[in-house]
Order: sequence, then C-alpha cells, then structure tokens
Amino acid sequence: MAERFDALIVGAGAAGLMCALTAGRRGRRVLLIEHANKVGKKILMSGGGRCNFTNTGAAPANYLSANPHFCKSALARYSPWDFIALVDKHRIAYHEKELGQLFCDISSKLIVKMLVDECLAAGVRIETDCSIERIAHGDSDGGDFRVHTARGAFAAPSLVIASGGLSIPSMGASGFGYEVARRFGHELLPTRAGLVPLTLSGKHQERLADLSGVSLPVTASCNGREFSNQMLITHRGVSGPSILQISSYWQPGDDLRLDLLPGRDALDWLQRQQRERPAAELKTALGEALPKRFAQRLCEHWLSNKPLKQYNLPELKQAAATLSAWPLVASGTEGYRTAEVTLGGVDTDGVSSSTMQSKRVPGLYFIGEVLDVTGWLGGYNFQWAWASGNAAGLAV
Ligand SMILES: Cc1cc2nc3c(=O)[nH]c(=O)nc-3n(C[C@H](O)[C@H](O)[C@H](O)COP(=O)(O)OP(=O)(O)OC[C@H]3O[C@@H](n4cnc5c(N)ncnc54)[C@H](O)[C@@H]3O)c2cc1C
Repeated sequence: MAERFDALIVGAGAAGLMCALTAGRRGRRVLLIEHANKVGKKILMSGGGRCNFTNTGAAPANYLSANPHFCKSALARYSPWDFIALVDKHRIAYHEKELGQLFCDISSKLIVKMLVDECLAAGVRIETDCSIERIAHGDSDGGDFRVHTARGAFAAPSLVIASGGLSIPSMGASGFGYEVARRFGHELLPTRAGLVPLTLSGKHQERLADLSGVSLPVTASCNGREFSNQMLITHRGVSGPSILQISSYWQPGDDLRLDLLPGRDALDWLQRQQRERPAAELKTALGEALPKRFAQRLCEHWLSNKPLKQYNLPELKQAAATLSAWPLVASGTEGYRTAEVTLGGVDTDGVSSSTMQSKRVPGLYFIGEVLDVTGWLGGYNFQWAWASGNAAGLAV
C-alpha cells in the first residue's frame, strides 16, 4: 500500500522547498522527496556561501527562455519583496551588494533553515537520502501518481518536479526531471551550461594563460546583448561576472567582443593621450588604464607599440577599434562542472504559466530550473525558483 499525500514534490532545492511550504500552508499534505543527504545544497553553496537570494530589480527581461512571456505571471505574483518579507520575518540580516543583488550578511545556511522551518511549521514531511525507483501513473492508480522509492511507495494526485538542472553534478544535479518530462510527452529544448567560465584554446590561450588572476572591467557583447562588469583571466580562459553573464548568450562560433575601455570613447582617449604625452609609448599609456601586464600583452599581440606621436590617424583608429571591440575567440565553456545554471530544458509551451501544471498530464507540475527559464547572474535564478515554486504551491 502506498502512503497517500495531496502532493509529492521531487527535489528539495530552492523551488521544491518554496512549493512545499506554500502548499503546506494551504493545508495540503505534502511530501518532499530529496535524493541527496541534505536539502538545499545549491542554496548553501550559492553566493560564495552567502546566497544572493533575490534581486530587487528582477523582471521578465532578466530571463532567457524560448517563450520570454512565460515567466511573467509567476514573477508578478511572487515578487522579490515577498521573499524579502519572509527573510525579514526570520530576522535574517542581509545587504545589497550591487545592482539590487541581496546577500545574507552571515550565511546561506540561514536561508535553508528558514525554508525548512517554514515547511515543518506547515506540516510538510521531508525525506532525504530517498531515491526514486519508478513513477507509475494511470487509471489503475485512480489517476494518482505513485512514486516508488527506497523508503516505500507514496501516492498523490499531484506530482511536482523540482529536480533542477544539470549543473554541478556533485551537488545532486541529475537529468531526472527531463526524463520524467519526456516520458509524459513533454518537449525538451536542448540543454547547455549557462553562467559559466569560457575556455580559450591555441594562441589565444597561450597568450593569456600566464596572466591568470588579472581582472579588469569590460563590456562583453554577443548576439545583441552586452554586460558591463569585471572579467577575470583564468588558467584555461576567462571568467568573472561579465563573462558569466554573456556566456548564457554565447555558443561556439559566435562573435564575442570585449570593450576594454568601457564607458570611454577609445579614439578620443587615444587622441588625448597623444596630445598630452606624445613621447610615451602606447603600452605605458594603456598600462595606466588597464592592468599593466595585460596592456603589455595587448600591445605585443593585438596592437603595436611605439611612442604615441608616431601613430597616424588610421593607426589610432585601428587601435581604438581593437580596444573597443576586442575579439575574444572562446573555444568552449567549462561545462556543467562549474556552471551556475542549465539553459533550455522542459519546453514551457507544454506548461501553464500561472500554475506550472502540465497541459498534457493533469496533476503534473514543473518548477524551477528544470523548465526552460534561466535568469541572469545576480539573484534572478533564485527569484524564479521562489516564484515558480509559489505558483505551483498555490495550485496543487
Ligand atoms: C555554485 C552556484 C552558485 C549559485 N549562486 C546563486 C545565487 O547566488 N543566486 C541565484 O539566484 N542563483 C544562484 N545559483 C543558481 C541557483 O542555485 C539555481 O538556479 C536554483 O537552485 C534552482 O533551483 P531548483 O530548485 O530548480 O533546483 P536546485 O536548487 O538545484 O534543486 C534541485 C533539487 O533536486 C534534487 N534532485 C535532483 N534529482 C533528484 C532525484 N532524482 N530525486 C530526488 N531529488 C533529486 C537535487 O539534489 C536538488 O536538491 C547558483 C548555482 C550554483 C551552481
């Protein structure tokens, strides 16, 4: 005999916990099934251990999805301020880092504890270390979903898939949600790593590898998107917030450009340097606007180097063009091992945007990262997990 619940939620991550506490508060009997040995592992490691739990500016424009309208309804019904109210209720201290990004002052453990406490107060049962053997669904089960696990069988009229994406397999990520979606007739959009460092190869990598650790502000642009923030040179390529952001819009072969003098007109700047210090070499002038070693390397391989007075206008224009749109030839990404998110996933066309319920199988829900909705860096992904978890929690 299977133990009966009103809702079974698979995955006790950000979205699953929010869905569980929301449904539990409505008096629903909820079982949260987690295969890892503890809940909310990604929350714990997020934001460098301080969890960037939301972004006060979160809006549909901050999300990538084949259907950019899909996220609107859930985001409108559960705003960053709703989550902040919960954080305030639990007296968790936080601060704004930049651009609306809110981080815990002390530890992301407090966010996990808050969500678990809310779940327990709402009567949610949480089973960790609980792996799923199979899921049955059909008339013989009275329309219920029957989930067979290492800890016995559970049945409910609602099954919520909150098992996340593929990033960081060592933290419990699995392709489980995609397999369930496929089995129940849902379309899947191709998945790939997002918010991920880019790798370089060949000459590009050789020229930069020993500058590993050097960081500078850039504007990275690709496919009509641009992000201004720090770039960090790594042993194998480039990282840092501007690169992580643009990585979600980049695919192999795409033209990726970096403005190395963001906010400045490069030609104007070069001409001013030429007027004010004609005897200085280009690398010396550039070394004051950029990290010195990086400026030197640029002059060695991508620009030239001579006293500024020796540059004629076409040469200055050429240097300006390189500085404002330096081509970064990335060879790939660091992949799911280090990616913060998975792009693509369960096609939102098959899911209701107000309840997250499958349009094909009544009672089946998909929330969080398993869906084809991916946020920018900066608290947007958790906001989507909270908002979609809330939407399903109100519906199950
Ligand atoms: C290093 C890192 C840092 C991040 N920092 C931030 C940040 O600061 N701010 C931000 O907004 N976003 C951040 N993110 C992204 C954010 O963590 C995710 O977008 C978010 O956790 C997605 O929520 P989710 O509930 O859909 O999935 P998850 O939080 O990944 O939860 C899925 C859960 O399902 C479980 N599960 C998987 N398969 C099964 C199965 N077969 N059976 C049972 N359980 C299963 C997993 O163990 C996991 O507990 C970060 C991601 C990473 C990797």
